[in-house]
Amino acid sequence: MFNKILIANRGEIALRVVRAAREMGVATVAVHSTADADAMHVRMADESICIGPPSSAQSYLSFPAIISACEISGAEAIHPGYGFLSENAAFVQVVEDHGLTFIGPTAEHIRIMGDKITAKETMKKLGVPVVPGSDGGVPDLAAARAVADDMGYPVIVKATAGGGGRGMKLAKTAADLETAFRTARSEAKGAFGNDEVYIEKYLGRPRHIEVQVFGDGRGRAVHLGERDCSLQRRHQKVLEEAPGPTITPEMRAEIGRTCAEAVARIGYSGAGTIEFLWEDGEFYFIEMNTRLQVEHPVTEAIFGVDLVREQIRVAAGEEMSFRQEDLQVLGHAIEVRINAEKLPSFSPSPGRITQYHAPGGLGVRMDSALYDGYRIPPYYDSLIGKLIVQGRDRPEALARLRRSLGELIVDGIDTTIPLFRALMEEPDIQRGDYTIHWLEKWLETNL
Ligand code: ADP
Repeated sequence: MFNKILIANRGEIALRVVRAAREMGVATVAVHSTADADAMHVRMADESICIGPPSSAQSYLSFPAIISACEISGAEAIHPGYGFLSENAAFVQVVEDHGLTFIGPTAEHIRIMGDKITAKETMKKLGVPVVPGSDGGVPDLAAARAVADDMGYPVIVKATAGGGGRGMKLAKTAADLETAFRTARSEAKGAFGNDEVYIEKYLGRPRHIEVQVFGDGRGRAVHLGERDCSLQRRHQKVLEEAPGPTITPEMRAEIGRTCAEAVARIGYSGAGTIEFLWEDGEFYFIEMNTRLQVEHPVTEAIFGVDLVREQIRVAAGEEMSFRQEDLQVLGHAIEVRINAEKLPSFSPSPGRITQYHAPGGLGVRMDSALYDGYRIPPYYDSLIGKLIVQGRDRPEALARLRRSLGELIVDGIDTTIPLFRALMEEPDIQRGDYTIHWLEKWLETNL
């Protein structure tokens, strides 16, 4: 096992990694920008190193700053958290070139899954069901037309380098295709420096269902069921739950086995998430995330495992601590993402926290780096906390979530807490009856 690891991240996820490491007896090094000098992850880690100015490019995303921090502190491995460098294959290569360990998959696996066309082709070959669409990239408008006409409208044009919902355009009819194709390409070029696009059948009312997988890097892998992350705003997840309200144990076992076998066959190491759209009982692969997800705690809750601990174990060359048959679903869990944002515009709302009180009690977990008097800097992501609840079943989890939202106090700034309080009263949410479009429609009339 490692003696010391460095956490190349900030906020609640840095704290999350510190907690897992401490329970394992592994020392932690926090890194921070000058804007984060008084952040909670800095206070909680065993050591901390300032790695640069507020701008992420010069701090949390700087290869030399992070590698130097490892060398200065003697950290042997780097946990990237999510976001920042977590899916940066070039960074993984640099880490390895310096004789350090990246706590995550290989650079090659990150590269394969980071290119959506290659990811889709790879998954298809491995027996994972994918969304019908073009065979690889479409080079020009004529090729796009041929594919779309053949498949039927509506279609979605997507950037192979895409992420965060960018470089993705819907064409409802043939008349929209030219604009969709050109804007997707130019957006992709601008955002990712790669304008290759492909075409998929547009699904009208799917749910977003993702399967958690975990591999030991030596050909053994398990799945930890699914999460339903259909409640989204601008393709960003807002609330996640596990298990999926519409997924039966038989469906879980089948898609889970398919996913676990696929990642076992490529020798995948660590945590990964295979994302699907789900409609009329069918799963359609859209992408794989080669890292820990923001919403991993709902899976931890229903399986009673610590995924970060497991990531550190596997990276250190140890065996996975569970087998497939050890993993049984225990009740229901829901997570809501608390953002420092002002409703109804969802505009960022940084500032000083005058009062913070976290809810507690049976089945309640609050992952947050907030504290009384903390000043949220304006430079980073607006996620300031995740409230996760678990119950024996979905109604109990919902009742617990409503109760916990009532206890939670974050004063001094605007947050998305009122959104969740309102959602708790919605019959569709209570029934678990929603698709990926539900929230956007609800927001049009309710905020
Ligand atoms: P990104 O990496 O940019 O987040 P994804 O491929 O994961 O892109 O898609 C993000 C979201 O876009 C999905 O969760 C879904 O809401 C929507 N989406 C993507 N592909 C399709 C499709 N073929 N049909 C309908 N909606 C889609």
